[in-house]
Amino acid sequence: MPAFRPLPPGSTIGILGGGQLGRMTALAAARLGYPCIVYAPDDHPVAAQVCAGHIRGAYEDAEALARFAAQVDVVTYEFENVPEAAVLECEKLKPVRPGVKPIHFAQHRLREKDFLRTLGIGTADYQPIRSEADIAAATALPGILKTCTEGYDGKGQARVADRTELSAAWARLGRRECILEAMVDFECEVSAIVARGLDGATRCFPIGINGHRDGILRTTTVPSGLPATTLATAERFGVELAQGLDLVGLVALEMFVTRDGRVLANEMAPRPHNSGHWTMDACATSQFEQLVRAICGLPLGSVEVLASSRMENLIGDEADDWLRYLAEPTARLHLYGKAEARPGRKMGHVTYVLPGVLPAARPAASGRSTT
Ligand code: AMP
Repeated sequence: MPAFRPLPPGSTIGILGGGQLGRMTALAAARLGYPCIVYAPDDHPVAAQVCAGHIRGAYEDAEALARFAAQVDVVTYEFENVPEAAVLECEKLKPVRPGVKPIHFAQHRLREKDFLRTLGIGTADYQPIRSEADIAAATALPGILKTCTEGYDGKGQARVADRTELSAAWARLGRRECILEAMVDFECEVSAIVARGLDGATRCFPIGINGHRDGILRTTTVPSGLPATTLATAERFGVELAQGLDLVGLVALEMFVTRDGRVLANEMAPRPHNSGHWTMDACATSQFEQLVRAICGLPLGSVEVLASSRMENLIGDEADDWLRYLAEPTARLHLYGKAEARPGRKMGHVTYVLPGVLPAARPAASGRSTT
């Protein structure tokens, strides 16, 4: 059987992880006729509200994972911190797309940066911090100290001006293995979201400009208004990453655009990404449908922009304003079905869609992180 034979509609997709990304993937899959079964440790994962089934189990539970894999035709994951062993367990029974290689690199910031560099993708200067000797020799200052594992949305990070601050920050982070990255004086942040199909074809969504606050993505605006050469570099980096990972599925690459026009990769996520939510309302194919197409061996969809858009995350109690968003004619509201609005929790998003493709957003539309 050729490796690229498509899985026909009616086949079942298994999703490791039960959050909003899994939920929106399941909705896109349903539209194309594919039911999903979600595997997650929690009682009521929000993805399960829209899935054909939910298997509750720990990511370390080989027996439950095998039961899950037996019921589906292909497996994907909706977050990159799923243990490698869980993916390998599923792989014994069914193809896992995008597989174990992307999470191997995405789960560890130092491995990730080294891998990006081997692909010729630019990054900020960085160095490992594993000891006081590393601190004494540190040169990537002023910089940001980040734990190598388990940090996201600005967590597990500290801005440091000099070696004294670095030493104190490393102690606060529990003297764990860290990476020190030189502070980038960026004009804006962007992300490339690239799909790669079973046949090796790649397609990059138009690059959006991202605004962050407190280390959390707040907005994505498309079109970006950045120079064509900058966009071409960002897109090339995204495509080279997808190819370098031998990935079947989606990968998002977050990047800085410096004031002198260089593009430097910050981090990758081998899954749909918050900065791609605008595609649900303003692109010919959504990132979630593109993922379904890629992992089912279908042709990738068009990435044509249908309208200018600005996606805004609804964080914590911001989602309480749902009635106001519903009353706005250009707003498309997406709520994730989460019961409790904790501070910092992504509860939904709203995409403002303006008819036609309007003049581009200026980079100044991007917020700067305050972490
Ligand atoms: P991260 O968790 O690596 O995505 O970082 C969260 C946010 O912190 C990024 O979106 C940036 O706004 C900021 N940030 C991270 N690394 C750097 C850096 N090397 N230089 C400047 N800002 C950074």
